[in-house]
Amino acid sequence: MTAPEPITVRPATGEAEHRVIVAESFGVEVPTFQGEGPSCGHPALFIRLSRCNLTCAKCDTKYTWDWSRFDPRMESTKRSVADLVAWAASSPVELVVITGGEPLIQQSLLVPLVWGLLDAGKKVEFETNGTIAPIPELVLDGVQFNVSPKLASFGMDEAKSVVPAALEAFAASGRAVFKFVASSVADLDRIAELANAHRLAPVWVMPEGTTAEAVTATTQALADAVAARHWHFTTRLHVLAFADARGR
Ligand code: SF4
Repeated sequence: MTAPEPITVRPATGEAEHRVIVAESFGVEVPTFQGEGPSCGHPALFIRLSRCNLTCAKCDTKYTWDWSRFDPRMESTKRSVADLVAWAASSPVELVVITGGEPLIQQSLLVPLVWGLLDAGKKVEFETNGTIAPIPELVLDGVQFNVSPKLASFGMDEAKSVVPAALEAFAASGRAVFKFVASSVADLDRIAELANAHRLAPVWVMPEGTTAEAVTATTQALADAVAARHWHFTTRLHVLAFADARGR
């Protein structure tokens, strides 16, 4: 599978004034790491966008979308692309993780942001639930998509969270890894079904848990079965190191 040719037409300068809905940004003032997936342990900056198109019961960032519990006026602000690029450029850290919520809800506004970050010498990883296919303007050298389809065991109706056309678009991009949250060995069977049906590779498995004890217990319960399938395995470093504190 070959990756699409990089886009060579850059957004007009004025698009740097576009504003995106942000929940929080962190990693400059208090340094941290990418906590999950292929770049786990790498120094990283985070831009967490507000809003999501799913409603997972086990979501640990409900302040990005659950307005029955949180006030969107308190939990989100509009920030210009220029402001976000300048914020990231103020740090020597190379990796910028754009997460959510579901960041690709705002993907047309993110084109100038991603271009600005790449021009500033950054690499970009999107954390996405895999329900929205990426527009070609975001499928670029220096950009990776960490795609996390949500299983029924995560408290989400798979009729909404598994979108075959979007998953296959990510797979065809050549710039995606597929990172599944799993809480039991039974989840691994469902992951295998999805990976086989939609040709998703490489597969990464991440243990569910928002405490060090839970992550450790699930890691130990899954390790042999993940290894037997020759899949990749990641921890949740921010949970182990920072007790899942917000802004770390
Ligand atoms: S897709 Fe992610 S951000 Fe959205 S509700 Fe599910 S866990 Fe939360």
